[in-house]
Amino acid sequence: MNIPFDPASLSLPRRHFIGGDWLEGDEALELTRPSDGRAIGAIPIADASVVDHAVTTAARAQRASGWGSCQPRDRTRALQRWADLIEAHADELAALEAVASTRLISQIPGIDIAITAEQIRFFAEMADKEGGALVPTRDDQLGMIMDEPYGVVGAITPWNFPISMAGWKLAPALAAGNAVVLKPSEMTPFATLRMAELSVQAGIPPGLVNVVLGDGRVTGTALTGHAGIGKVSFTGSTLAGSAIMENVARSGVKPMTLELGGKSPQIVFADADLDLAARCIAGSIMFNAGQACVAGSRVIVEKCIAEALTDRLLPLMRPQNPGPSWLASTGYSPAISATQRDRIDSIVQAAIAEGAEVLCGGTPLEREGFFYKPTILGAVTSDNPAVTEEIFGPVLTIQGFTTEEEALALADHPTYGLAAGVFTRDLARAIRVTRTLQAGTVWVNRYGRSRDHILPTGGYKASGIGKDLGREAYHANRRTKSVLIDI
Ligand code: NAD
Repeated sequence: MNIPFDPASLSLPRRHFIGGDWLEGDEALELTRPSDGRAIGAIPIADASVVDHAVTTAARAQRASGWGSCQPRDRTRALQRWADLIEAHADELAALEAVASTRLISQIPGIDIAITAEQIRFFAEMADKEGGALVPTRDDQLGMIMDEPYGVVGAITPWNFPISMAGWKLAPALAAGNAVVLKPSEMTPFATLRMAELSVQAGIPPGLVNVVLGDGRVTGTALTGHAGIGKVSFTGSTLAGSAIMENVARSGVKPMTLELGGKSPQIVFADADLDLAARCIAGSIMFNAGQACVAGSRVIVEKCIAEALTDRLLPLMRPQNPGPSWLASTGYSPAISATQRDRIDSIVQAAIAEGAEVLCGGTPLEREGFFYKPTILGAVTSDNPAVTEEIFGPVLTIQGFTTEEEALALADHPTYGLAAGVFTRDLARAIRVTRTLQAGTVWVNRYGRSRDHILPTGGYKASGIGKDLGREAYHANRRTKSVLIDI
């Protein structure tokens, strides 16, 4: 798709969106375009009083509109109209997304927006199909499990896929009858604000989708600690997830869905289709320049085919047209910020100092913006920082194994357990390995999500608690009430 735009002529929404209205705030946080490092103005930081206004407005709107108690099919229809509007505004949303983020204008309409619209429809269809049960009791009693929305869900999203992450949070929460106060990443808030505005146009009552702008320290803390929030739904780093757990524990008790960091392995056995494996591995680490939670950054390969796999990987690790995210010809993303690019580089340099061998890349790309060269590091041990740290950049490590047991031991990260890939033609081994892997998602002879929104996503270990997507995400946005009636 060819929809380039001029970032200088783009009018960016910079206010909070609360109760269907725009709310001014003092501009406090400066934003930068990752593609060329230029400043694009500032956004306000919602303090505790703005967050309180948003939560109170959301709670009032959820009750007064009857969103949680209406005929569920009415929610379905409104959400479907919202999905239609999001698709109808794909060009506009793509421009708002591309300007400040790492997402490319060539990919956003066909990937981020198309999948988000589908995903909203998926949850919309659950509204009148899931929930509640009549349970076996004595004949002179009636036992029921009723399920109900929480009221207001407090959601927080990261910068790496802003539209998709907003969709993951908003769609199940709204379909389940809640209002939402969402804080997008302070680096990439623009498309989320427009999505919120479109929700009102779609007939979702004003106040059901609210967006507060700001950072994690002030706005995020005020939101997750607010007593009016019935549930917290967070996607971001494990560090921030831990801080949120602490804040929630201090300020009151509420359920949390936490989608956190990862350091996912891709195991390649000698009998695998090596061309397929190389394409999947390179694709997973080149997409969004490795800034994906499920990036398969640790290649674990049977030693006898390590060289053959590396030979296939190297030509695929060339950046295709790095450039401004708003040009249709650009095929390779920058890192989100100078800080992120420097962090990637500092881990790579530390890895090299500890014995890693650079097979390609290993330095920033010399051009404007915050680009980093696709990098492969060989000869790494399990305690090398490139193997232990979530780099969140285009960096692969390669480790060799001789036995299946050894492969599984290498794959088992001490901290993370988000996703894993297995490449083999041996079905029995694929099943055996899948059963042993400590990961919330395992892909066999492929790597990456499909459009099957029925498959939940979430982490083992410190990669998270609970699931996004699937039936689980819908039910995580409702709570159950057990009812027993003596007849
Ligand atoms: P981050 O944790 O720095 O920030 C994420 C969001 O949390 C931002 O909106 C930020 O403002 C907010 N935040 C930060 N500290 C907070 C606090 N103490 N209280 C409340 N809010 C706080 O993460 P990021 O750099 O934006 O995103 C990258 C991270 O997100 C990576 O670790 C990646 O693996 C993870 N991620 C996970 C998934 C998943 O599905 N598991 C998906 C995408 C990204």
